[in-house]
Amino acid sequence: MKQDASAENNPLFRPYMRAVAAIGACILLSSACQVPLAQLGIPYLLLSLVTICVASRIVIRFFRFDSCVSVSDTFIFLSMLQFDGEAAILLGAAESLFASFRVTKKPLTMMFNAAAMACSTFITVLALRLCFGSITDVARGSYSSRLIVMTCTMALVQYFFNSGIIAVAGALKTNQPILATYKKHYVWTSITYLTGALAASLTHKLIGMVGFYAFIATIPIIAVVYFTYKTYAKNVASSVLQAELAERHLAEMQESEERFRSAFDLAPIGMALVALDGRWLRVNHSLCQIVGYSEEEFKQMNFQAITHPEDIGHFLSNINRVLEGRLLTCQMEKRYIHKDGHEVWVLIGVSLIRDSESQSLHLIFQIQDITDRKRAEQQLVHEAFHDSLTGLPNRSWFMEQLKLSMEQAKQDYSRLFAILFLDLDRFKLINDSIGHMVGDQLLVGIAQRLQQHLRAGDKVARLGGDEFTILLNNIQDASEAVHVAERIQRHVAKPFNLGSYETFTTASIGIAIFNEEYEKPEDLLRDADTAMYQAKSLGKARHVIFDKGMHLHAMNLLTLETDLRRAIERREFFVMYQPIVSLKTGRLAGFEALVRWQHPERGLIYPDEFVSVAEETGCIVPIGQWMLLESCRQLKRWQENFALEMPLSISVNLSGKQFAHSDLLDQIMKTLDVTGLDPHSLKLEITESIVMQNIEGATKMIEQLRAIGVELSIDDFGTGYSSLSYLHRLPIDTLKIDRSFVTRIGENNENREIVRTIVMLAQNLGKAVVAEGVETKEQLEWLRNLKCQYGQGYLFSKPLDADSATNMLAKMAETKSIIPTLEGILELDDIEPLASAYPM
Ligand code: C2E
Ligand code: CA
Ligand code: CA
Repeated sequence: MKQDASAENNPLFRPYMRAVAAIGACILLSSACQVPLAQLGIPYLLLSLVTICVASRIVIRFFRFDSCVSVSDTFIFLSMLQFDGEAAILLGAAESLFASFRVTKKPLTMMFNAAAMACSTFITVLALRLCFGSITDVARGSYSSRLIVMTCTMALVQYFFNSGIIAVAGALKTNQPILATYKKHYVWTSITYLTGALAASLTHKLIGMVGFYAFIATIPIIAVVYFTYKTYAKNVASSVLQAELAERHLAEMQESEERFRSAFDLAPIGMALVALDGRWLRVNHSLCQIVGYSEEEFKQMNFQAITHPEDIGHFLSNINRVLEGRLLTCQMEKRYIHKDGHEVWVLIGVSLIRDSESQSLHLIFQIQDITDRKRAEQQLVHEAFHDSLTGLPNRSWFMEQLKLSMEQAKQDYSRLFAILFLDLDRFKLINDSIGHMVGDQLLVGIAQRLQQHLRAGDKVARLGGDEFTILLNNIQDASEAVHVAERIQRHVAKPFNLGSYETFTTASIGIAIFNEEYEKPEDLLRDADTAMYQAKSLGKARHVIFDKGMHLHAMNLLTLETDLRRAIERREFFVMYQPIVSLKTGRLAGFEALVRWQHPERGLIYPDEFVSVAEETGCIVPIGQWMLLESCRQLKRWQENFALEMPLSISVNLSGKQFAHSDLLDQIMKTLDVTGLDPHSLKLEITESIVMQNIEGATKMIEQLRAIGVELSIDDFGTGYSSLSYLHRLPIDTLKIDRSFVTRIGENNENREIVRTIVMLAQNLGKAVVAEGVETKEQLEWLRNLKCQYGQGYLFSKPLDADSATNMLAKMAETKSIIPTLEGILELDDIEPLASAYPM
């Protein structure tokens, strides 16, 4: 047995080696002295040669114990039986020295190995001599049993001491306990010692029978046995190797399984092992927490049971792709249903694994709870697509839905759908008069009613302001859309109780029905909007279905708008002056300035066609300013050029936009300043609705205007809201009775009574009255009977351009007469003397 010292760990290792070497040297020395050289001769030399050169190279390995012995032990035992103890000691040491020379060049190690052999053989010789007397005697004796016992003793003592000495060295070298080292490397070698010793005694017996050279004959036998052993050992080695590999593999697998198991159980994310049929085989703690089920409860279910029904299809198709090998692993976001019933959003990764024990395929799920992120995302999406006030979806969302419906309808033209464009009729009024808070509450209330009264599948959105849109999917025909619009209008019109206010509003609805000509969602919305405008202009609280004519009309409006903006710079506007006449005297009291537009292509355009557009676009402000300046300048000129008994006045119409403009007072003062017109000659006409939109603000403005001497008239009186209730509070000078009442004076009593009431009311309040639209003599007579002070109408004069008006004035100044058109209509004696004529 050889020991190679390479690294020494224990400090005793080297001293121990040296001590053994020293003892060995002494033993060798004494053995060398005692050996009977004469008896040894050639046979001993031959045996030594075979032992050192051949036998020591034949090594038997113990695979599992990482140790080996050489056949040379047999020969050393043989030499002991044949040539006595000292010869064996010398041969053993020599063989050991040569054998260790082949594996190490370290002198100490070589010496130790030789000495260890010398020592153990010495002790063996000593022990045998003590027990059996002379070794050679027993060996040559005829008692085979004695020889067997001695052989066994020889083997055991040799084994015990030789392996003992070397085991101590090994233990010191590796710093391991001696017994453990011994057990690990040397226990099994006892067998080779025994077989070696028995082989030696057999050979010895053979030599005894046949003569020493029979020993040479054993060499081929030994060689055959050896090579048989070699082949056997090789097989054993490879199977041992395989067994070891398998064992190591098993250990590794167990280890990795262990690792996997703890990684699985302790993972901060949910993990699950799932059978191909969907049963949960194993789930970890994190997953139990994510969905609220215990591991036992999980094992009673399959994964479909806790998956959100809407997500199952997609998930299964992904899993199939993994099972078919088209995907190595798949990842997706989906919803589970928590044990409590709420949704849990998870990011799930699925891959396929083979179970190491059963070899069957399983799915492994890795599951992360992403509910918080999903909620945040959904919140963001919600905010992007919803209106914060009413909670309804917004325009972006609606346009997306519209696009979707259009795409579906284009696939299948039998799928008809429509959109409703809804605008509240009185919203601005409520918002401006009661306040934005109430306005907001009203919008929320409307939104709720719209949602409540839609059919399933219909979609409502708030576009902004008081505009709402509704998408009616899958309608049979246009009448179904009309039916829905009517129902909505009924519900919207019901009163709202908003805090201390009870208010109501109506809605105008435009309806656009999809057809294949529509390319873009925007076009459909635009047409519904156009139809809504049409509904408004027809008198509000209506619904109108869009037709192509409206689009044309809308297009005209659009070009009108562009043209209007240019018209101011191009000076395409001019003023017409319509006389206002004193009904008592028939004399001219003043003019109303009326705007006209000389369009380069379309010719003369009347205000009814463009004033509302100008108002909407804001163009009315510069147009109005120009009108004010032009008519004031004209009146001033007339006042300077014609000496009339009555100081003429000019009435200028103000639009709501102008009246609300912060600049108004400044503008008027500047105009009066620039033209030099007496403020008392200027009358501004505003409609009732302008005043009603903001009574307080209007009153304040009127007071400021009156403070500088300008007068105010209420135009179209009688057509607006609660005309009479607020009238006494308004600091206005004149009421202009709307043309519609005057025109129909002759038709029935009711109109006559209205006119009478307005005239009397004005008289009681000390305000002047002008009757508009006087066209007939009868109307004039009626008005004169009612003591209405002033009249304006075609009966007296159509609006005149500046030149015609100048001519008329020149004529009147010359003759000091009444307005020319009245001549012959009024009997002269009807005309009051000038002196009693009331000033306007
Ligand atoms: P309005 O202020 O009520 O003006 C009177 C309208 O009645 C004028 O129409 C006039 O031509 C018409 N008229 C006068 N007498 C008779 C009659 O006996 N029979 C009939 N059938 N009609 C009569 P016009 O000039 O077309 O103006 C229409 C409306 O346009 C005006 O109604 C006024 O509201 C608005 N408007 C006119 N000029 C201006 C302006 O410079 N600024 C603003 N903001 N609005 C204006
Ligand atoms: Ca007017
Ligand atoms: Ca009027």
